[in-house]
Amino acid sequence: MEASTFVENLISIVGEYYVLTNTNDFYTYVTDHSTGTKGTPLCVVRPSSTAEISMIAKLCNEHTVGIAIRAGGSGVSGGFLSGNDSILISLDRLDRIIEINEIDRYIIAEAGVVTQNLQDALHNKGLCFPQNISSAKLSCIGGNVAVSSGSPKSLKYGSTKKYVLNLEVVLPNGEVIWTGKNIKKNATGYNLTQLFVGSEGTLGIITKVVLEIVPLKKEALILAPFKSSEEIFSFVKAFFMHGFDASSLEFLDKNAAELVFNYLNKKITEESIEGMIWVEFESSHEQDNMVKMEALYELIKSYTPYEMLIGQNPKENEKLWRYRKKIGEAAINKGFFHDLDLVVQRSKGAEIYKKIEYVCNSLDLEFIVVGHIGDGNFHVNIFRDPNMSDNRWQANIKLCVSTLLKETVKLGGEISGEHGIGSYNKTYFEEFTAEQNIKIMKGIKKVFDPKHLLNTNNIFIKKP
Ligand SMILES: Cc1cc2nc3c(=O)[nH]c(=O)nc-3n(C[C@H](O)[C@H](O)[C@H](O)COP(=O)(O)OP(=O)(O)OC[C@H]3O[C@@H](n4cnc5c(N)ncnc54)[C@H](O)[C@@H]3O)c2cc1C
Repeated sequence: MEASTFVENLISIVGEYYVLTNTNDFYTYVTDHSTGTKGTPLCVVRPSSTAEISMIAKLCNEHTVGIAIRAGGSGVSGGFLSGNDSILISLDRLDRIIEINEIDRYIIAEAGVVTQNLQDALHNKGLCFPQNISSAKLSCIGGNVAVSSGSPKSLKYGSTKKYVLNLEVVLPNGEVIWTGKNIKKNATGYNLTQLFVGSEGTLGIITKVVLEIVPLKKEALILAPFKSSEEIFSFVKAFFMHGFDASSLEFLDKNAAELVFNYLNKKITEESIEGMIWVEFESSHEQDNMVKMEALYELIKSYTPYEMLIGQNPKENEKLWRYRKKIGEAAINKGFFHDLDLVVQRSKGAEIYKKIEYVCNSLDLEFIVVGHIGDGNFHVNIFRDPNMSDNRWQANIKLCVSTLLKETVKLGGEISGEHGIGSYNKTYFEEFTAEQNIKIMKGIKKVFDPKHLLNTNNIFIKKP
């Protein structure tokens, strides 16, 4: 079929206004927040319902045209970057909250609901989805599920996958399925829901999500600067040995702290710091938080000589969290960087951190480390020095990334904790994942997407 006739067919499904064919019009849709390349899809389509997406998928399946899927576009691994053998479906018009069930404690939302809007609707009822992802104003709930994103609260609640009860999915042939039921327990056959969570749009298009929700709690926060990274990692071990059950345990290294303080036009008051830690407790009663904070204060005192800052209400907490939450923006503002999302057991944090410092420094690479240190999940942003020749940058970054990923896997870790494989990490994914596991995953892909039409550039190096 001629491309123009194919586009006419798309227009007959969603209407002319919602099919963008001029590259100037769809420029903002074809890039995510990785500072890399842009997609060049045939066109951008903005459907408003599952039924429209199903018709689009049927049409694409019939004419063997690929589909790239975009929700909020805040992803950092190049997941929906496609060539002109694909169309790009933007889910921005699927933005309705369908039900908040306060008794069975779930929310049903369309995949394009912005994460913050979902949280605001829940907060109004004293409830929440227990993930405070830093990109809440950019990302959509369907994108969070597709990647199984994490957040500072993952220490207590795990990542998004733990709260997904059920999904409505459009399969590549246009069929629509629900993967489960809106129930807390389910031992009925294979767990199809979890198969789609974290599949990064390679198995189906998630159109509705059913998430478990919990009551909002009161939070208290400590921000502590440290003089040495050794003391930071010793403190983390002591924290768990003492049995603390915090909701967040977060970290910025010295470079990251300097970057974000400069970005926010603030000064770090201590003379020399090697990093900062945030610990958040949550509980139904403020008094319970205070008891935990006092015990924690005593423990931290023996690891840092510096003053700690304490937040005891939402306003104070937000002020302290700002430095941690704005680091993504500060890094993007600084310039092009390569992003790593390493995850190891928390007890191996000091080992991987030393490797990161050693490898980056020995290759003359400017870097910051931002960590969900309580989960052993470290984001390393390695910045492109404009004075370094292209050849040298390419050689150094390749050596740096492969060395650090090798070390991560050697320590029993994985190459992504929450950002996913996307198109940027697929070579490493295949290199560092057991051959049998890759074979099984490719087999699963073939069951759902035998023509290899969905997010064709994603996860695997070649068509499975
Ligand atoms: C400033 C900033 C802060 C961030 N903070 C965090 C953080 O705290 N924690 C974290 O984990 N990540 C974080 N990220 C990364 C990013 O926000 C997350 O990966 C987020 O979950 C992506 O959601 P999205 O809606 O933007 O997805 P997109 O970027 O649109 O898509 C991401 C991937 O999912 C696929 N996809 C999206 N929607 C669907 C769907 N409905 N069905 C099938 N496939 C789909 C896409 O094809 C793509 O492969 C941050 C990014 C930025 C820029």
